[in-house]
Amino acid sequence: MNMLTLGKTGITVPHNAFGALPIQRVSLDTAVDLLRKAYAGGMRFFDTARAYSDSEQKIGHAFSHDYMKQIGITREDIVIASKTMASTPEQFRHDLDRSLRDLDTEYIDIYQFHCVKQCYRPGDGTGMYEAISEAKAQGKIRHIGITAHLIGVAEEIVGSGLYETLQFPFSYLASERDIRLVESCRKADMGFIAMKGLCGGLLTNSEACMAFLSQYPVLPIWGIQREEELRQWLSFFERDAVMTDGIKAYIGQDRKALMGDFCRGCGYCAPCTVGIKINDCARMSQLIRRAPSENFLSDEWKEAMWQIEECIDCGACMSRCPYGLDIPTLLRKNLADYKEIVSGRISVK
Ligand code: SF4
Ligand code: SF4
Repeated sequence: MNMLTLGKTGITVPHNAFGALPIQRVSLDTAVDLLRKAYAGGMRFFDTARAYSDSEQKIGHAFSHDYMKQIGITREDIVIASKTMASTPEQFRHDLDRSLRDLDTEYIDIYQFHCVKQCYRPGDGTGMYEAISEAKAQGKIRHIGITAHLIGVAEEIVGSGLYETLQFPFSYLASERDIRLVESCRKADMGFIAMKGLCGGLLTNSEACMAFLSQYPVLPIWGIQREEELRQWLSFFERDAVMTDGIKAYIGQDRKALMGDFCRGCGYCAPCTVGIKINDCARMSQLIRRAPSENFLSDEWKEAMWQIEECIDCGACMSRCPYGLDIPTLLRKNLADYKEIVSGRISVK
């Protein structure tokens, strides 16, 4: 397993890290078990967020002072990155103190502004950059990071020279512009943390995903909530995922099938005014073709899909989608396709 240094932070970790968003969906015991096994298996970097409900608390439990003492490690042996969606300095300070408390730690290695739509700068009137710099000066955080979903914002962030790390979606569906962003980060000596390496669950071949990401100076954080998923990612500590001609051909085909305006399943558009499960329903056409279709033909799924007919075109979701998708249109397209599949006029595996 190659090691990767996150730009000027100097943080050097294996090129295979833990994304702790999904552990909010499992019990405390399961989460603690996964996190500890991830550490035992070689992972050293854990990415969480204030917005991931109890994910920080679960990390705090997993790597408590007592546990670390028991296995003979210290806080310095683990890298923790977290994030805040605060938009005022007051909220920022409140979030950071809560993150520190929940994570049961004196400091956070990288604290990131979460899913920003603007690049906070000193003197821009928001006070946000001043707040994060103050936290660094106080030793509450070690490095200043930021996460974005919009390529234009990400490019502005890299150009600003103000941040030590950028977290951005990066998978084998990346565009040429995304790949240039990685190169700009490298030149700017900024760490690149790659989120959505599986594109919100649409990509299912872990070998191909890992082989692609291994070619770039980016740190993949794999969202993990099941032991089987963890085992898959940990297996790459035993053998490298290599880009072969076969994998290249597979990726080429998948890119053809998936490029364009599609829902990444990030969920930032929630909540829908009438309760539609947008992040599942807006990508049903892909999901149902990429997993055994019976998984998506239950009464529960049908009910969720038929709810699309309740959409009132209020536009609330669209204002929150970082990819600028026309969500009502996308939902209706998915519903029309789903109806064809349910009726048997279109057959999927
Ligand atoms: S436009 Fe439709 S899908 Fe979006 S929030 Fe409004 S009702 Fe929900
Ligand atoms: S519609 Fe947009 S915000 Fe909502 S889940 Fe899909 S990509 Fe994310």
